[in-house]
Amino acid sequence: MSYKRLLNENRSRKRKVRERAGRGLLVAGVSFLVILSVFYLKNELPEKSAAKEEVKGKRLFCAAQADEQMVQMPASSANLKKAVDYYKKRYQKKKATTVVSVKNASKKQIRRMFYQTKISDDIFQRMYKKSYKKNCTVPRSDLRYIRVLYYGFDKKTHIGEMVVNRRIAKDICSIFYKLYCKKYPVEKMVLVDEYNAVDEDSMADNNTSSFNYRPVSGTTHLSKHSYGMAVDINPLYNPYIHTINGKKVCEPVMGRKYLDRSKSFAYKIDKKDLCYKLFIKHGFTWGGSWKSVKDYQHFEKGI
Ligand SMILES: [Zn+2]
Repeated sequence: MSYKRLLNENRSRKRKVRERAGRGLLVAGVSFLVILSVFYLKNELPEKSAAKEEVKGKRLFCAAQADEQMVQMPASSANLKKAVDYYKKRYQKKKATTVVSVKNASKKQIRRMFYQTKISDDIFQRMYKKSYKKNCTVPRSDLRYIRVLYYGFDKKTHIGEMVVNRRIAKDICSIFYKLYCKKYPVEKMVLVDEYNAVDEDSMADNNTSSFNYRPVSGTTHLSKHSYGMAVDINPLYNPYIHTINGKKVCEPVMGRKYLDRSKSFAYKIDKKDLCYKLFIKHGFTWGGSWKSVKDYQHFEKGI
């Protein structure tokens, strides 16, 4: 082989290597762009649209926040319907601890934010096999979903929810409205199903709640909570003390430091407390007045 041919061969080999490298770079570049766009489509876009939705939601929520009353509602009826649908879809499913601004709402509008509805399929789905056990003997039609506002420990207005018996639904709306007007602090108010209907967990989280198909702790008979006829308020600060096999038991366990009721501390329910006065006025009895056990968080009505 002549050295010229060798040189030519060498040159063409180098050219091929360069071309291959170029093609490789091109493929890598294109793949990179494809991956980038897939990533963008998968992650960025929904994020952006979620943010947009959020803004839209907030705007609509502001418009619809006085609930079905629709203060400051957009003019057209199509907009109105859209806003209400959006509000219902977005906010009624949300955990009921959402902070709301009621700055521009009138007293009448605020009162209408305390209302009851029948147990919808969505709500029932949240409850089924949790607070509404498979063997529950209380008909679903006997229960009501309550939606209220409450004044949080953070001094903000929150949306609260509760499932109660239809016989006390009106009382509960009225009591919680009065509590809210007087800025009575309630820390949390979501369905006990958020805690898989485990009462201890709900109490330890200081969650105010009612319906839970369960026996009285330490016994086999059904609690008034099973019928939605009892309400527990700020349970951590107002524990339940009872005796099992001669042993004193405090529920929630973390509430033990609030057992000494002669002490004064925040969120304590006693006979001077507004919550106590309102429930008694509406015909409830207080667990703190019981003789054998003391259930300071508990108000109930007979069926
Ligand atoms: Zn109770």
